[in-house]
Parts: sequence; C-alpha cells; structure tokens
Amino acid sequence: SNTRDLILSSCASVPDFPKPGVTFRDLTPVFADPTAFAAVTSALIEPFRGGFDRVAGIEARGFILAAAAAYASGTGMTAVRKPGKLPREVLSESYVLEYGTAAVEIHRDEFPPGTRVLLLDDVLATGGTLAAAVRLLERAGAEVVGAGVVLELAGLGGRAAVPASVHALATI
Ligand code: 5GP
Repeated sequence: SNTRDLILSSCASVPDFPKPGVTFRDLTPVFADPTAFAAVTSALIEPFRGGFDRVAGIEARGFILAAAAAYASGTGMTAVRKPGKLPREVLSESYVLEYGTAAVEIHRDEFPPGTRVLLLDDVLATGGTLAAAVRLLERAGAEVVGAGVVLELAGLGGRAAVPASVHALATI
C-alpha cells in the first residue's frame, strides 16, 4: 500500500546501532514528514476505529504515535513508562532482555473499569516490550483491543510473543 511504501522508503537503516551487529531501523524521518506522519497515524487507528477509549504508547517513541492517534480519534492517551518516572502508586511489569531485564509502569488507577485500549509502539522486534505492556494494561483492568506498530521486524517471532492482536503497517 501507499502508507507501507512511504514507511519503507523513508525509514533509515543504521548498522551497528546501538551496538555492533544490530541494524537499527530509524523512523524519525517518518515522523518528520507531514504526509507520512498523517498516513501512519490514520492507518494505526483504522482497524480499531470506534472500538477503543484510550491510546497507550510505550516510552519513548510510542508516545509520539499515541499522542497523535489519541488526538485524531478523539480519545485520551496513556504513557507506558520506564521505571521510576511516575509520581503516584504504580503497577510494574518486568520482562527479560538479551542481557538483564527491563520493566514498564503505569499508575495503578490509570483506567476506569472496562476501558478499551489501543496500544502503540514504533517497532516490534522480539515482542518482549509489547507483551509486557499488554500484561501491564490488563493487570490495570484495561481491555487491550489491539496493538499497532509502524514496523515489524519479521523473523524474530515477536508477533507470536504478544498476547493481543498485532497490526503492523509495514514488515521487513
Ligand atoms: P522488542 O521488545 O520487541 O525486542 O523491542 C521493541 C522495542 O525496542 C520497542 O520499544 C522499540 O522502540 C525498540 N526497538 C527495538 N529495535 C528497534 C529498531 O530497530 N528501531 C527502533 N526504532 N526501535 C527499536
């Protein structure tokens, strides 16, 4: 599709970032281009339109997408944060990385009962981050109606690791 082509043509591949052997897919040109950013925002919402009350974005690049999608859909936004950032009582969900662990957090009282949440991030790799965020939102009482990403790195099995319906705008 047109949106997919826009993403793939403006996404930059950076070898050996953040460490040797890793190829980092840089989506900052997609956010900077008005046509691509609008198309991506609409396409992330579209499969779930009318079916969610809140958009959650994962720190930090997911914030950019979730804020735009919440505004465009007339809903609100939840920031899924790295540990230690939120001031009130939090729920925390840990996940395993190649070396060590990481965690994501939200406020314990973030969602009124029955809140339907669309979860967004920029890139799906192993799926560890998105899976932890889904578990976190569900523990907080949300119904995760779907997870949207701009780019899915296929071959890492990420989609299968995520306990939600995953919608990727482009796959490489
Ligand atoms: P996962 O947990 O699926 O292995 O990694 C996904 C998380 O790491 C996402 O929050 C994403 O922002 C970040 N990430 C992993 N690889 C890349 C990449 O190549 N490009 C970008 N932009 N983010 C990545």
